[in-house]
Amino acid sequence: MTKFIFVTGGVVSGIGKGIAGASIGRMLKNRGLKVFMQKFDPYINIDPGTMSPYQHGEVFVTKDGAETDLDLGHYERFIDEELTKVASVTAGKIYSRVINKERRGDYEGGTVQVIPHITDEIKNCVYKAAEQSKADVVITEIGGTVGDIESNPFLEAIRQIHSENQEDVLFVHTVLVPAIPGSKELKTKPTQHSFKSLMSYGIKADVIITRAEYDITDEIKEKISLFCDVPIEAIIESKTVDLIYEVPIVFHEQGLDNFILDKLNLKPKHDSDRSWYNMVEEFKKADKKVDIALVGKYTQLHDSYISVNQALYDAGYVNGADVTIHWIESEKITKDNVEKIFDGMDGIIVPGGFGARGSEGMILSSKYARENNIPYLGICYGMQMVVIDLARNVLGYESANTTEIDPDTKYPVISLLDNHNPKEDIGGTLRLGDYECSLKEGSLAHELYGKEKIIERHRHRYEVNNEYVKKLEEVGMVVSGRNEDLDVTEMIELKDHKFFVACQFHPEFKSRPNNVAVLFKGFIKATLK
Ligand code: GLN
Repeated sequence: MTKFIFVTGGVVSGIGKGIAGASIGRMLKNRGLKVFMQKFDPYINIDPGTMSPYQHGEVFVTKDGAETDLDLGHYERFIDEELTKVASVTAGKIYSRVINKERRGDYEGGTVQVIPHITDEIKNCVYKAAEQSKADVVITEIGGTVGDIESNPFLEAIRQIHSENQEDVLFVHTVLVPAIPGSKELKTKPTQHSFKSLMSYGIKADVIITRAEYDITDEIKEKISLFCDVPIEAIIESKTVDLIYEVPIVFHEQGLDNFILDKLNLKPKHDSDRSWYNMVEEFKKADKKVDIALVGKYTQLHDSYISVNQALYDAGYVNGADVTIHWIESEKITKDNVEKIFDGMDGIIVPGGFGARGSEGMILSSKYARENNIPYLGICYGMQMVVIDLARNVLGYESANTTEIDPDTKYPVISLLDNHNPKEDIGGTLRLGDYECSLKEGSLAHELYGKEKIIERHRHRYEVNNEYVKKLEEVGMVVSGRNEDLDVTEMIELKDHKFFVACQFHPEFKSRPNNVAVLFKGFIKATLK
């Protein structure tokens, strides 16, 4: 029998609702329960895959190839479970399913309405998540803020789930408690309003999680408790912490796990497992310093690389180091300033990307790291840029390029596979999700992973062109990973270099604080040498 926790947000967006949900998940997992998480996004886009990284931050990819909101990355890192398509639901997806059914005649002439058709489709997603995951608890985060017009069908659907499963549903509402400018006085009125607004949908919060600039006093808690009819022990302060991984600990220390277990009548398998706490303690001991240059084109918005950032930080901690990331706008890198830009950097990482803008700066970065023995990790586009650098600057194919940028290039070293023509639709047509990769014995990749076959997540359309692989190998490029079924290059590396590794997949998506991706771990280790 699965229990359901719904997390909504009030007052303002962007106060860490995703982290709060993920922390509840981790807390319950620490008590031995099986947890699954999902996110409802009320926008009309089918998925974030086609949304600008500037607007939406990173596109996270699940093992089964769903392009999702970045909050799923937090969920996976916190609860250490691989999520699936059913974990990512947008209003666009729901409406398109309902409209497709209507066109197929599934509704047999009935009038198709928000209630019950849209709400049923939403409810199905929750029940399907429970059925597929067989989790003890499914935690569902509703994106946006209560009162947004788009959220209405989602709130109505979760209200219905509550009425169908009274004892098995818990509502968590996260709010901002603002302070009056110039004084430290915290104000609970917005919380009261937001609680009432949620009530107007027929949903009564069981737990209120507060975010504030200053400490929430008992007096403030009492006030919220009185006005919102929530017991004082269910008003949880989400303090600002040094490490986001501390949030589950902060919640646990306020007794939130016991409150939830009681309320949902759930039996924990044991007391709170210490390993997460020990991990955080270990992380806090990091005393070395590492400076990493992250070269990309969406650098104004650090969220565009959130899984890469997190994998770098976590790889730092497990190596006893505090990583400082220097986000460098690739478009600004030129032959003349490249040395100055990378001065003082211990390592260079070029993560995924699309399109022409900034690509020349990425190619220069790869060349600079290669020639100056600076640890380099190339991910997806970052690997393709290495191949272009080698073709141009070592093989002498001056105009070598990817056909993504120059479809008529004389040397298409990165190109589409014959059977992989871009379709008219741009959404969901990339090579997405898990694919196997066989590692070459004796390679650094093989040594790092410690096994021959690995599975990693992908999100790309172009591949290394097999026609050029032999020539590139002759000048020192080692193909250390391949997908034999597709006959494509998955990983490359250079010998006689401190660390020069690049991969077509995204190792950051499977990196966890308690199980850091080996490529990141190896990369940071090399920067410390
Ligand atoms: N633009 C490249 C491709 O489509 C790389 C994509 C990426 O880095 N995620 O193959």
